[in-house]
Order: sequence, then C-alpha cells, then structure tokens
Amino acid sequence: MTTRDCVFCDIIGDPVHPAPIYRDDRVIVVKDINPKAPIHLLIIPNMHLGSLAYVGPGQVPIMGHMFVVAEEMARREGATLSGYRLTLNQGQDSGQEIEHLHLHLMAGRKLSAMG
Ligand code: 5GP
Ligand code: ZN
Repeated sequence: MTTRDCVFCDIIGDPVHPAPIYRDDRVIVVKDINPKAPIHLLIIPNMHLGSLAYVGPGQVPIMGHMFVVAEEMARREGATLSGYRLTLNQGQDSGQEIEHLHLHLMAGRKLSAMG
C-alpha cells in the first residue's frame, strides 16, 4: 500500500529511482539526502506505516526484516566490525520529519553519545 503526499512512498513507487542501494519485496534502502555520517542509509518498509506508533504484533515480521537488512547493509559497507548506529525516530520530540516508518543506519565515523 502506498499513500499520496508521502515522499518515501513516492521513492518506493518509482521504478527508476536514481539510487536505491537495495530493494526487495518488503523494503527499500536509499542514501539519506542529507547525510549525518559518511554512511547514512534509510531502511524503509514498502508498506506505508506512519511511525512505530502504528506497529503492532502483525508487523513483527517486517520489523525483524528491517533489522536483518540493516545488518546486511552495514556488512556490505564494511561497518559491522567498526560499528554503526541504528536510529528510529518516533514523533515530534524525536525530530521525526517523514511520517513513513524508517530506520536510519549511520556509520563511517565515531558517533557522538546520544542525547
Ligand atoms: P526522520 O527525522 O523522519 O527520522 O528522518 C527523515 C530523513 O529523511 C532525514 O534524515 C532526511 O534527510 C531524509 N530525507 C528527507 N527527504 C528525503 C528524500 O527525498 N530522499 C532521501 N533519500 N532522504 C530524504
Ligand atoms: Zn509512505
């Protein structure tokens, strides 16, 4: 399912998106347009889910798949051993900007403490 006026649904629905790092029948991975680390990827489920607030027991398989794909992407980028961070923003106070669930994968430099 895709939703109008959603930038990530537009990317998912675009068969010739310029730079999908990876895609399968459940997720797409793209480079963040405004990277905060040398490696900054977004793991985005194909299904439109507004945020983690819309996730329940029925979404356990897709949530698990997002993490498995994230680790696979980190390994491909050579970041598994050096380390990386996965971030999932939920709602206003987190700074969530795009209301389509996604996981950030950041790596390639020493990441500062969270806060
Ligand atoms: P959020 O704050 O919602 O967790 O993160 C949204 C992320 O999406 C931001 O890091 C932002 O730079 C990125 N972003 C926003 N629009 C686009 C876009 O059109 N393409 C890509 N690849 N990333 C985007
Ligand atoms: Zn969407």
